[in-house]
Amino acid sequence: MDGQTIRLDGVTKRYGATVAVDRASLEVRRGEVLALLGPSGCGKTTMLRLMAGFERPDAGTVSVEGAVVAAPRVFVAPERRNIGMVFQDYALFPHLTVAENVGFGLPRSERAARAGELLTRVGLAGLGGRYPHELSGGQQQRVALARALAPEPSIMLLDEPWSNADPLLREELRDEVTSILRPLGVTVVLVTHDREEAFSLADRIALVRDGAIVQVAPPEDLYYAPACRWSAEFVGGCNVISGAVSGGLVHTAVGSFPANGASGADAVEVLIRPELLELAPDPAGAAEVVGREFRGHDVFYRVRLADLELISQRPSNEVVELGARVAIRLHDGRVPIFH
Ligand code: ADP
Repeated sequence: MDGQTIRLDGVTKRYGATVAVDRASLEVRRGEVLALLGPSGCGKTTMLRLMAGFERPDAGTVSVEGAVVAAPRVFVAPERRNIGMVFQDYALFPHLTVAENVGFGLPRSERAARAGELLTRVGLAGLGGRYPHELSGGQQQRVALARALAPEPSIMLLDEPWSNADPLLREELRDEVTSILRPLGVTVVLVTHDREEAFSLADRIALVRDGAIVQVAPPEDLYYAPACRWSAEFVGGCNVISGAVSGGLVHTAVGSFPANGASGADAVEVLIRPELLELAPDPAGAAEVVGREFRGHDVFYRVRLADLELISQRPSNEVVELGARVAIRLHDGRVPIFH
């Protein structure tokens, strides 16, 4: 069966007066890695738990593989949804060995063989006799992944599985998860509040705000064509500059751009990513560098242009001194426009 695997239609979930998920609709495509991205408390985990069946919606429907699994009068239990889940803290049983953890939900006769096979798949062959506390954090994650894969789910839900790891280990863990899950063709829904994580791992990102899904798009589209100013600012640095439309162009203090459909004498806001704003030292330039922050691979400049203060992000081998006069140029035509 092709097409969507998980589908939310107008799903709402309340906890008392808190609306954790607010009429959310979403289709997850077969075999994709979809990230639910948004600030802490916006409802991502609740959406994941609704998909898994650990929560029941107050309104709307949840479908898995074309069948309704949650609706006002329908509820299919988590263990009957064929969905695997890896939690933030891995949730391994401390008193069971690694192999027992992996085989836990399987028929007794299959346990040993299947656990061995799964541990080999996640690179832990030979460690089945250890206990979770005898493994590193990365190895524990692989055990959790193996356990979630044991019933051969077609869908895997990951709830910020790396949130407790330090940055270097995080990267390693991310690579492992994708190198293990991608080849299996498993559909993955991943919860994260880290935009770089979402950008680097996901085929598509569903941006979540206040329990609602505000945009679903591939990472590049989200970055360069955000649906609103909030999305734009959540997924990256930006300069927001006001402009006026005339003759098919938007005129702003930093130049004029194609209006891309904005019409009339509309007042608009133009968004420019800091890395698209180039600085050319020029004694007659209209702008001045008033701040400079070295970040290693690049440098962030604060640039004053009349009453505007702009941010420019340049490679660090391209040095512009503090106090220098500069001309501002735009790297290319990718300038989203908002009313
Ligand atoms: P996120 O995963 O984006 O951080 P959550 O889905 O965990 O957000 O939470 C969304 C909102 O619902 C928050 O305001 C949170 O406090 C609330 N919430 C989540 N789970 C519960 C619960 N079991 N009881 C009461 N409130 C909850």
